[in-house]
Amino acid sequence: MAATKVDSNAPVTNAEGNLITRDGDQIIESNWNEVTETFDDMALKEALLRGVYAYGFEKPSAIQQRAIMPCVKGRDVIAQAQSGTGKTATFAISILQNIDLANPECQAMVLAPTRELAQQIQKVVLALGDYMGVQCHACIGGTNVQNDVVKLGNGQHVVVGTPGRVFDMISRRALRVNSLKMFVLDEADEMLSRGFKEQIYDVFKNLPGNVQVVLLSATMPPEVLEVTKSFMRDPIRILVKKEELTLEGIRQFYINVDKEDWKFDTLCDLYQTVSIAQSIIFCNTRRKVDFLTKQMSAKDHTVSSMHADMDQRERETIMREFRSGSSRVLITTDLLARGIDVQQVSLVINYDLPNNRENYIHRIGRGGRFGRKGCALNFVTKDDFRLLKDIEQYYNTKIEEMPTDIANLL
Ligand code: ADP
Repeated sequence: MAATKVDSNAPVTNAEGNLITRDGDQIIESNWNEVTETFDDMALKEALLRGVYAYGFEKPSAIQQRAIMPCVKGRDVIAQAQSGTGKTATFAISILQNIDLANPECQAMVLAPTRELAQQIQKVVLALGDYMGVQCHACIGGTNVQNDVVKLGNGQHVVVGTPGRVFDMISRRALRVNSLKMFVLDEADEMLSRGFKEQIYDVFKNLPGNVQVVLLSATMPPEVLEVTKSFMRDPIRILVKKEELTLEGIRQFYINVDKEDWKFDTLCDLYQTVSIAQSIIFCNTRRKVDFLTKQMSAKDHTVSSMHADMDQRERETIMREFRSGSSRVLITTDLLARGIDVQQVSLVINYDLPNNRENYIHRIGRGGRFGRKGCALNFVTKDDFRLLKDIEQYYNTKIEEMPTDIANLL
């Protein structure tokens, strides 16, 4: 059966009792914490798996890793992720896995707000199901009604459509829904808000009482979420969102090092006076990373370093050591400025101020994860002061000189 695992980063629970975990620079909020990292591990039908790979997918996206399995298991699911993150394939794969091809009746229905979207979804279902011989028809407004009636009469495993035409087909008994197992609303928040809501209910009323409901959307306002309670059963909620960057909770200081040559001694002093769980030191060049690593090691500091010149195996080993805590200081370049999540990092040192302003927030965001307190220290030479002011202005923040009691803040 599918190999599932719980995210390795220690999860945090929010007020609604959902687990919050991370995947790169994505934050996952869910009451379901199983992750299936490959399509191979999803125990999909062989013909479907072939279709998935032939379509060019190699690895499931974050939402696919989390939402396909509960959909396949028949759970009601609300999957929320930004557009372009693979939601269509999430439900298309789930549908294809669950339909019985020997039964020509409609077993899965997808409703979408526009004709174009419905057609696009139909194409994806047909493409992924290419090796399965799946029948999938798009029932959309503005097309010949009789043609729909004939197509449906031929037997369609999956119907994708816009609500009006689908309801029409059900009313004419051209579309029989007795065998329907799965009801999917794409762009669910739009479908459940004004305009569409009544039509959706009209369709839904005709479906078997035990039909599985899957909702997908990039946005899900609270009032829509409230509406879902009336027709979903104990739904699994999976929310994948981009990490929002904020300076909140991160104390920022600068140390006036005057000139480049003084940076190293300042750094050594710092590590001598304060004990730090884990820290990351950012330099602007690979050469500087190597140089600093050598110098620190010569002074008996245990440090690891990483930059893009190293081969992948080496990089993975270093990350593993740092994540496990067996190495406590990581010297690196902007290679690691984004997305890396090591919760014990309480201090980020900008040995060099970043060359671009955006990376400042990415770098210092490595510390103080999940509301833990974090601290950022900026080494500033005479020449750097202008840059420091620029960063302060850009982020509308204040970076004070490091106080003498810094040890208490870490
Ligand atoms: P959404 O429905 O979330 O807006 P789509 O399902 O349309 O996103 O996917 C966006 C694009 O990414 C599509 O071109 C799709 O083919 C592609 N895609 C989806 N899942 C994967 C995957 N696992 N690997 C590679 N490409 C993918």
